[in-house]
Formats: sequence, C-alpha cells, structure tokens
Amino acid sequence: MSRTPLLAGNWKMHGTRSEAVALARALAAAIGSVAGREVAVAPPFTALEAVAGALAGSGIGLAAQNVHWEPKGAFTGEVSAAMLREAGCTHVIVGHSERRQYFGETDATVAKRLGAALAGGLIPIACVGETLAEREAGETAAVIARQVAAVLAGAGAGIARCVLAYEPVWAIGTGRTATPAQAEEVHAAIRRQVAGTAGEAVAAGLRILYGGSVKPDNIDALMAEADIDGALVGGASLEAAAFARIVRYRG
Ligand code: PEP
Repeated sequence: MSRTPLLAGNWKMHGTRSEAVALARALAAAIGSVAGREVAVAPPFTALEAVAGALAGSGIGLAAQNVHWEPKGAFTGEVSAAMLREAGCTHVIVGHSERRQYFGETDATVAKRLGAALAGGLIPIACVGETLAEREAGETAAVIARQVAAVLAGAGAGIARCVLAYEPVWAIGTGRTATPAQAEEVHAAIRRQVAGTAGEAVAAGLRILYGGSVKPDNIDALMAEADIDGALVGGASLEAAAFARIVRYRG
C-alpha cells in the first residue's frame, strides 16, 4: 500500500505571533507546491490562528503541540480539540518526549489526549521513543511496545486515522540522529505491533514518521527506508530553506 509521506515541523516554544507568521510565509514560499507529499507545521498555541491565515491556500496543514482530553472545564493552561479546530488546526502532536520528560505526561494521559483529538476531528501525531539509558540497557523494544500499546488503546479503531512518530529521545535536539537502519528496525517493529492489534491492512496504511535531528543532509537516507513515511522535524523546521529541502527529499 502506498503511504503519502508527511513532513511535519514542530516549532516548539519558538515564535511570537509576528515571527511565526513571517516563518509561515517564508516556508510557504520556499516549499511551493510539492506533489505526493503532505506538509504540516506546529506553531505555539498563541500563533495558530495567525499562521492559519498565513498558510491559507498553501496546502500546508496546521498542527497544535498538545490537546486536553476534556472538551471544557477547570483545566488551567490546557486547550481543547474544539478550540484547536476553530483556530484552524488539522493535526495535533500528542505524547512528545518533551511533554513526557518535563510535564509529567504518561502513557495513560497520552492515550486520553489521543482519543480526544480523534473525537474532535484532529489527526493525532502520536510520539513514542526511548531514552538513551533505556537504549543502552537493551530496553528499546520493550519501551516502544509499551508506548505503542497505549497509543493503540487510546485510539481504538481510530488508529487508522493516526500518524505515529518514532522519536528516540537521545536524538532530539542533540544533533545525534538514529542511523537509517536503527530507525527502520523500530519502525518495522511498530508496524508489526499495529498489525497484531489492528490488522495488516491498517498497519500497511499507517504512516510512521521518524524524528530526531532530521536535517537536509540526512533526510534522503532516512526516507529510503521501507517503513519510514516522513519526518517530525524540530530545529530544522525553523529555517525555511532547510525545511523546504527536507520536504523535497530525494527518495
Ligand atoms: C522534535 O522536537 O520532535 C524533534 C525531532 O526535534 P529536532 O529535530 O530538533 O531533534
């Protein structure tokens, strides 16, 4: 089954509203129209609506960086799926390792956020990944399997509408990328696990992105792997020329 590659930029906590709009315009101009690929960017919450306007007509999707599982209520600092949809979002990142590391996100909360995103009509980009200590202890397969199991539980039949991202924590923002072979090994294992729960057809159609220091000079080799269906890009997505080159990878 052919899977349309998705190249997504995670802007993290970078960009005031005016800076984000300028970056969105520069990106749209640098990327132009690219056939056969999907592109999305995830600005900070405060810039979402303005970036939606700047991207109108560009074909570039808009993602939020998190979503709460309740539709409304006394949840200070949280944002609901309906609020994100109204701001123009099509996608939302859930379970990013920075949320897990610094903000107490757990497999259970990731599963709840994922369910709310699907119910609210957003495409979740659900992140999984092992830490360096876990990899060195030989626990990569077990950690990923546990995190993917939570994603599958949260999504239910909606897994067919999800995107997964394998992001080894030791590769995020460190300049240290997983080799294409290391990434492929985990991607293939994730796809086998999804097949075991949701069936071969769903697994064959599921996009699994790689994330962790993706740059213009390593994207081509990563995208040559059979089970790597795109990238979730942090640092390099903040530079229009670099992100445009990543989107135009040569596969
Ligand atoms: C990320 O934040 O998802 C990420 C992969 O960051 P970077 O590309 O900077 O490693």
